[in-house]
Amino acid sequence: MEQGRRHRIRHRIQAELLRLRRHRILWIRAALVSAFVLLNAVPVSRDLFDTVTLRTERAAEIVNQLRAALHIDSDVQVAAVLYHPLVFSVEPLDKARDHFVLSMEINFLLKLDDEELYAALAHELGHVWVYKHFPFLQTERLANSIALRVVPRESFESLYMKLWTYERAAGVPMDDLLGPKENGNSTNAVLSAAPP
Ligand SMILES: [Zn+2]
Repeated sequence: MEQGRRHRIRHRIQAELLRLRRHRILWIRAALVSAFVLLNAVPVSRDLFDTVTLRTERAAEIVNQLRAALHIDSDVQVAAVLYHPLVFSVEPLDKARDHFVLSMEINFLLKLDDEELYAALAHELGHVWVYKHFPFLQTERLANSIALRVVPRESFESLYMKLWTYERAAGVPMDDLLGPKENGNSTNAVLSAAPP
């Protein structure tokens, strides 16, 4: 009797784990990482807290500059988070897509200099632009092609190198993400927002 009950519970947990593995692996990972961080929490130093606050404020400032440059009317709030499966990411908060939240994983945020931060945020705003321009589809390349109107290519190259090191990922050819390099015209930081 006791054994049968234990067996049933074990079976149910296994089934649940399988279901979660299929549908929610990313969120489970996020939850586990957050739990891990909390369990190992050393008191966060005042300095670190101040640094994160400063960089988050800087990011909000840059987002507003880039929104103006790309003619994006939607409101985009920035949020520094302990973990995000995509490291940096932007999601609409409403159906009309007038409000977005742009999440930045803190450990990566703190590794970026201003140029790289511009590139990372311009990329996310590229996604916002695509969200607002039906029927364009979300791709990394398209988000970058929007972002490249306002941030030089070099900043993206340096950003991607840092991202791949951070994620311990092999990376992909730069041209796949940024398009072929144009000869003699390395800065295409022209402030305009015409479709690609
Ligand atoms: Zn992206």
